[in-house]
Parts: sequence; structure tokens; C-alpha cells
Amino acid sequence: MIEVTLLGTGSPIPDPDRAGPSTLIRAGEQTFLVDCGRGVQQRLAAAGSGANALTALLLTHLHSDHIADLGDVIITRWITTFTPDPAPLQIIGPPGTADVVAATLKAFGHDIGYRIAHHADLTGPPAVEVHEYTEGVVWDADGVRIVAAPTDHRPVAPTIGFRIEHDGASVVLAGDTVPCEGLDTLAAGAGALVHTVIRHDLVEAIPLQRIRDICDYHSTVEQAADTAARAGVGILILTHYVPSPARGQYDDWRALAATVFDRQIECGDDLHRVLVHPGVCSTSP
Ligand SMILES: [Zn+2]
Ligand SMILES: [Zn+2]
Repeated sequence: MIEVTLLGTGSPIPDPDRAGPSTLIRAGEQTFLVDCGRGVQQRLAAAGSGANALTALLLTHLHSDHIADLGDVIITRWITTFTPDPAPLQIIGPPGTADVVAATLKAFGHDIGYRIAHHADLTGPPAVEVHEYTEGVVWDADGVRIVAAPTDHRPVAPTIGFRIEHDGASVVLAGDTVPCEGLDTLAAGAGALVHTVIRHDLVEAIPLQRIRDICDYHSTVEQAADTAARAGVGILILTHYVPSPARGQYDDWRALAATVFDRQIECGDDLHRVLVHPGVCSTSP
């Protein structure tokens, strides 16, 4: 079984009730954080986890909303890990990730210096190991296998999605993308597909061109559902809602997805949790 927790269901637009894009995946003894938008640490704490409990951090792309709290994750893991010689935080992302991590460590350079000077048992900067991929197997350890594939969020490029497999269960995280072959292949037959979505019908009505621009590189609810249907996934999990649904509006979002996808559709507030069992893709709702 794989446990999916939507830690942050928001977007770049600040929302009092939604953290930025971030999803927690628990598979066996391993814990993966996929993207780390604003407020991720509060949501990690609420989900009973923390930066010091992460097996690896996976980044779908380097848009600010998806990496806003990268520095907080790195620093907090560093100062809340009390074992000597802690394992480096594994960070897996598209090309460019190493630059962003290096710049983040530089931005926190003063802080890192203060803490090393103050605590005798902190003898070096945060240990991180960055791995950049555009496709292929990115993780294979202790019964969890993770494959990456290119997505299409142009002009943001390269961007990747992840497929996490454990004990017969599988979950695909699309990140931000329009429908594309890379995602279709990655999602084929998966137990669940976590897909970011925006409502073009509502966003197109906003009289601000900069806001309307976002329609051209994000999937609509129906497009995400269509991808899920084509791939034959068991559960479609919607996140990264634009505009943010008000209370009671999730039925509208689910209904739009249901016009093209007739299996289980999940959406909800931050901390919404979905259990993905082995073989779920072959069962009807
Ligand atoms: Zn993006
Ligand atoms: Zn985004």
C-alpha cells in the first residue's frame, strides 16, 4: 500500500487555508516529499512527519510555488537531526536542481555559519546530495522503485513526473503539465494519478492577462481526467487548485472530472489522505 497525503493544495496565489504545492508519499518504511511549496513544514508536522524523517525530496520542476520552502526543508532537517554523521538529504529533480540547491545553501550561508559557531555538534553545513534526471529509474531501494519521465509545462523546461511503486501499488505524480506522451506512458495502469489542475472556464473570465496566461501550460480538470482515463488509472487525485474552491465546491470539480473519468476521483483540503492499494487500477469504483 502507498499512502498519499496532499500537504499543500494551493498555487502561487496566497491562500489562508492552503499551503503551496506539496505531496507526502509513504511507502513501506520510506517517506518521500514531492515538491515543497510554502508552508510545507507545518503540514508535514500535521501529517506526523518532518524534514528529518524524509527519505528523499523529489522536485517536479523549479517554479517558485513548488520550491518555495526548499531552504526551510534543508535547514530544518539539518538542525533537527541529532544523530552523528546524518545521511545527506537526497534531492531528485530536473536539470537546474543542483543550481537551485547551491544558491539556496548560499542564501542561508550566514545562518549556517551562526549555527556551526554556536553548536559544537554541528560541524559542517547541511548534507545534501542532488541527482538530476529527465527520465528513467531515479530510485530503487528497500522495495520502492521510482521512475521519472518528461512532462510538458513549456516554456518551463525540463519538467518531470514521478511514478512510485511499492509492493504492487503505484502512484504517479504529474506535477504541472499539459497532456503529453511522457505522462501517458508514466501513468499507464497506475493505481493513482496525482495531477495539478486549473479551471480554465473560471480563469479565462478573469480580466488580467497575466493570470489568464497560466491556462496555456496547465491541464484543466477535464484534461487531467482524460489523461487518467487514457492511462487506465484507478484513482484520480486532483490538487493545486486554481482558483481555490470554496467550501462545498469540490462536487463541481469532481463532476467535471467525472464527465470523462468514471472511477474514483479525490479532491480535498490540505492533509486530504488517500490510500492506494495494490491492484487498485483493475477495480471499478
Ligand atoms: Zn509550474
Ligand atoms: Zn505550480
